[in-house]
Amino acid sequence: MTTFASLEGKVALVTGGSRGIGRAIALELGRAGADVIVGYRTGREEAEAVATEVGGRAVEADVSDPGSARTLVESAGELDVLVNNAGLTRDGLLVRMSDEDWRSVIDTNLSSVFYTCRAAARGMMRKRAGAIVNISSIVGVHGNWGQTNYAASKAGIIGFTKSLARELGSRNVRANVVAPGYVTTQLTDVLPDEAKETMLSATPLGRLGDPEDVAGSVRFLCSDEARFVTGVVLHVDGGLGM
Ligand code: NDP
Repeated sequence: MTTFASLEGKVALVTGGSRGIGRAIALELGRAGADVIVGYRTGREEAEAVATEVGGRAVEADVSDPGSARTLVESAGELDVLVNNAGLTRDGLLVRMSDEDWRSVIDTNLSSVFYTCRAAARGMMRKRAGAIVNISSIVGVHGNWGQTNYAASKAGIIGFTKSLARELGSRNVRANVVAPGYVTTQLTDVLPDEAKETMLSATPLGRLGDPEDVAGSVRFLCSDEARFVTGVVLHVDGGLGM
């Protein structure tokens, strides 16, 4: 029986795989047959539980640190798939935003993508095969009140990935972006109910997203079924951002 979007025989690294969207992606890639490496920073137990479920392994790394990010990629072996999902928010109005809140968001969400892609690209080019999926956000496309740092990091991912798609395309390495809308995770738990209601009422599909809603789209983009797809920004947002 053939399976749509099979990742049988492929090695996949998912950063921030301990919980939320990254966890759902790691489980989905595992179900698709990939050998999954689950990257995490602090959530060892959670990451190990995910790795056990998919028969993969968990590796600790702070992807905002260039050395740690490189070591993570190198320890994963010959990668076929790289999913950059790790991210955080440090929300606040621009006029009150500290240098630290700016830097930690840019370093964790954007510089990390540069570090891991740089470390993975050479091997993928050599193999003339590879799929990179970087997780951006609807906020990177439209902006959001109180999120100048986050929006800049997520918009940066889009420009970065499109450039990467152009650089690596001739070697059959693809790079795409998934831009989720509002997804219920620890990241969004902290938002006030009013903000959730506003988001919900602007979402044509009439509900907020689950991590699993994002995972299937990532699996597709990682698979050979998406072999002629590169440089796209796939909105997975229930129609919120159109
Ligand atoms: P969570 O806060 O639930 O999970 C974030 C993950 O990133 C955790 O596994 C965390 O690991 C990891 N992480 C954070 N910092 C680092 C770091 N420096 N090094 C390594 N890993 C790190 O968030 P979500 O699941 O909601 O978000 C996942 C991605 O999706 C993020 O990039 C986010 O911006 C994006 N996104 C989320 C949306 C949403 O509505 N939830 C909407 C649009 C985009 P640990 O706990 O071990 O530190």
